[in-house]
Amino acid sequence: MIICPDWLLISAEQVERSAAIRIHDGLVHATGSSAALIAEFPDDEVVEAAGCAVLPGFVNSHVHLYGTLAHGIVIESPPTGFASFLDDYWWPQVEDRLDRQMISAASAWVSAEMLRTGTTTFFDICEAPGALSGVLEAEAEQSRLAGIRGIFSFEATERAGAEIAELSLLENLDFIDQHQHDSLVSGAMSWHTVFTCSRSFIERAANEALARNTWFHAHCNEGIHEGNWARENLGADTMAFYRDIGIASSSFLASQCVQMTDDELEVISTSGTRVSHMPLSNCEVGGGIAPIADLLDRDVTVGLGSDGYVNDMYEVMRGAFWLQKARRLDPSTTPAHQVLHMATEGGAAALGIKNLGRLEPGWIADLQVVNLDLPTPIDASTIADQLVLWRSGHHVRDVMVDGQWRVRNGEVLGIDVERARARVNEEAGRLWGR
Ligand SMILES: [Zn+2]
Repeated sequence: MIICPDWLLISAEQVERSAAIRIHDGLVHATGSSAALIAEFPDDEVVEAAGCAVLPGFVNSHVHLYGTLAHGIVIESPPTGFASFLDDYWWPQVEDRLDRQMISAASAWVSAEMLRTGTTTFFDICEAPGALSGVLEAEAEQSRLAGIRGIFSFEATERAGAEIAELSLLENLDFIDQHQHDSLVSGAMSWHTVFTCSRSFIERAANEALARNTWFHAHCNEGIHEGNWARENLGADTMAFYRDIGIASSSFLASQCVQMTDDELEVISTSGTRVSHMPLSNCEVGGGIAPIADLLDRDVTVGLGSDGYVNDMYEVMRGAFWLQKARRLDPSTTPAHQVLHMATEGGAAALGIKNLGRLEPGWIADLQVVNLDLPTPIDASTIADQLVLWRSGHHVRDVMVDGQWRVRNGEVLGIDVERARARVNEEAGRLWGR
């Protein structure tokens, strides 16, 4: 198949005007002039994309699929800080009430929503003690119908007792074992934080993941709470603790990283720890603005994530674009192409997926076709600004995952979206106690 757009973004930094892209066997086979590609491969289907850009699909490097069930929820006890957000609201009113049926409904809807808005790969972290065991399979069943690429994990934790702690670890290990050779569905290890997991629990989780050739993930310093807790109870900053017990490494994905000391930034940088940045949910929980520009200056691998809050990655990109400038009082900070890089190639690297996030020959054919009906002229040097600032999910026309169309003309092909919406509405009503 040959797709012929006005603009081809091979990556956030490499933009070609009037270049076409040939897809074969789930991979990018070639890029170049459409006339030359059509002459060389005359039997290929030709997809016209005049007035559009083709760019890599987004990688949402941190989502909670169940999160959508809480959108618009009436909060019984409004939180007054990050710790209170968990203690008074998120744990008792959401996570501890979830069951597999609710999470399955949310998984179908969010898979469709992410595809529809240009996301082709996501990393999910599920936390729902009442949905063990088998909840990750229930989620993956829905994402597979949509045809989106997903890495699934259960946020293992000791906060709900020893039995749940054990089940939560086994949920991850079973899922990782079951999906070792699957291109669309795979597993990774997650635990919650240092304030809900003991050292021995974290070490066991990490070692079991490494034994299965996969990586491990945790939320890190989402607000001031965890760092203060770690200094008080562990005698060290969170990341220093992780360094001292051998966790900080290129096998570690640390999400959030909002309230960090300079020493912690140094630990991340020197250990090769990867980071997922969620600008919008950091604001939601009153966590702060993460020092992402400082991490990028240190060449840390950073991806962007929605945290299950606002799942349109165009909105997430705007959050990163604006907040870093405001934090540093510097409009040159975190330019649009750097934000687009984090949303594509950076996210793929953060999730340890090779050959994903660029549209170069030999790389995975995950891409989006975006309508460019903008009111101003388009230039190669500013097309990243045009995309990051003045496009949204509803400008995405077509989406391809693994060389297969999953969205055509704005319609998700594998999921009945209206039925998915109705299911979420019913299950959210049950979660909210209505
Ligand atoms: Zn999260």
